[in-house]
Amino acid sequence: MSEEKSLNFIEEIITNDLAEGKCKSILTRFPPEPNGYLHIGHAKSICLNFGLATRFGGATNLRFDDTNPTTEETEYVDSIKADVQWLGFNWVKECYASDYFDQLYQYAIQLIEKGVAYVDDSSPAEIALQKGTPTMAGTGNDFRNRSIAENLALFNEMKEGKYADGAKVLRAKIGLSSPNMHMRDPLLYRIKRATHHRTGDTWCIYPMYDFAHGQSDAIENITHSICTLEFIPHRPLYEWGIEQLGIFPSKQYEFARLNMTYTIMSKRKLLQLVTEGHVSSWDDPRMPTISGMRRRGYTPESIRDFCERIGIAKRENIIDFSLLEFCVREHLNKIAQRRMVVTDPVKLIITNYAQAEEMLSSENNPEDTEGGVRQVPFSNELWIERDDFMEEPTKKYFRLGPDLMVRLKSAYIIKCERFEKDAAGNVQTIYATYFDNSKSGADTSGLHVKGTLHWVSAKHAVPVVLNEYDRLFSVEDVANAEGDFKEYINPNSLNTTTIAWGEPAFLNDAPEMRFQFLRKGYFYQDTISTKDKLVFNRTVTLKDAWAKEQKK
Ligand code: ATP
Ligand code: MG
Repeated sequence: MSEEKSLNFIEEIITNDLAEGKCKSILTRFPPEPNGYLHIGHAKSICLNFGLATRFGGATNLRFDDTNPTTEETEYVDSIKADVQWLGFNWVKECYASDYFDQLYQYAIQLIEKGVAYVDDSSPAEIALQKGTPTMAGTGNDFRNRSIAENLALFNEMKEGKYADGAKVLRAKIGLSSPNMHMRDPLLYRIKRATHHRTGDTWCIYPMYDFAHGQSDAIENITHSICTLEFIPHRPLYEWGIEQLGIFPSKQYEFARLNMTYTIMSKRKLLQLVTEGHVSSWDDPRMPTISGMRRRGYTPESIRDFCERIGIAKRENIIDFSLLEFCVREHLNKIAQRRMVVTDPVKLIITNYAQAEEMLSSENNPEDTEGGVRQVPFSNELWIERDDFMEEPTKKYFRLGPDLMVRLKSAYIIKCERFEKDAAGNVQTIYATYFDNSKSGADTSGLHVKGTLHWVSAKHAVPVVLNEYDRLFSVEDVANAEGDFKEYINPNSLNTTTIAWGEPAFLNDAPEMRFQFLRKGYFYQDTISTKDKLVFNRTVTLKDAWAKEQKK
């Protein structure tokens, strides 16, 4: 592994474990529950788990933690696989906790036979009451004293469907006085009649998270099972299960989950945004989902870079969304091809340009020496931005106005001669003359101008639609804001421009190409875009607000 960077705490643990021979190689897992699409928080966990395996020459399983049949769906399984692959990672094995249902059932029987698990007929309310409080020990009930034979029979009947949902549970018999409430005779199995996305109606009892996760880790021989901080209190139970069953000694480690400003990271809440129509879909480009970010034009490289930069912590924190945008911008600046698009068009006529048209070379990417050039058609009728013209220019206005000169990008220097307005008083046509010896790259005019404008030749222009996005929420810490999180949805998070003109190069550009529209931002073709109707999503603006902040 690379020695340049200091090790994070999990890398230190792994380095020691390998050095001491506690394991020969490492096996990690990424264990999503298939109850929604993955978000950027999951990306952090993916980069961590797969990244460790890569760094230490190990491997990673993709495990679907599918023990709750009511919320899980195959659509989610498929999206999760696509997202992990898109991020650039390959799992060595695709696993499902549901594949272990038989094994987990056998494990439960083993615990009953050892006298450390029992069937309890109490209601959830009774169980909660009997559990006591963190400062007061719980009280047992008579069910705790059931014989092993009776427990075996009852548990089998639970499985056979003899009892109603919720009528009985299987609990571990650990004790009722631990200061850790998770250790007070925790639930292992519940009765629930629901069709499972893989096992159908085979089972009517399902293991609880705490009786599935550690056991699945052990079944797969996971060496380092990495989860988020809220699982710290579950760790003693994780270890108890492994010890009681004498199975592979997987170990659990915890890191702080990723929280980010102006967004949320809960699949349950993200699902609400979708089902209630606040966004168009899970892959709406405003969503913090991996699929949303992909559709918006984020690159896997930039997301991996972001995860690397934030590192892993042992304490909760909230990361500035602008850091992610900074990473996206950094990468796109290097790879995005430059194009010209005019969004609020006004006609510019060059009165002394006598040719029908000519092709001008324009650099695709000044950051990339191998980026090459493209041919941009030029003619005497162009579209320019309405914003780039001022009827009565102020002193430091370096764009166009009566008698002012500017350079047209990759083309000529022009001088504005006059303009015309429409009936409503809006500037309709601007007339200019050009200097034929001022061509970019072969300029002998000796003229000096300060402003450079982007433009599109009117007769060659192709219509494009632009979606420009802003933050999905209007407050920084959405998760901790008072009241319903949906009150904070930014009503102006999407701005669509339906009339805009782009270069004809778009007709030959591949859909997956990344663009920088000059002076506008980075853009990427939307999934609904076609050659007949080009639709671009703004990935990120050009402005580098975060970097500026850092320099202050
Ligand atoms: P959510 O609350 O969004 O549903 P979850 O933790 O229930 O998240 P899982 O599908 O169980 O989602 O998560 C799979 C893995 O991703 C787990 O190991 C979990 O710890 C990790 N993970 C989930 N959210 C984050 C986050 N915000 N930051 C880092 N890791 C996360
Ligand atoms: Mg979960």
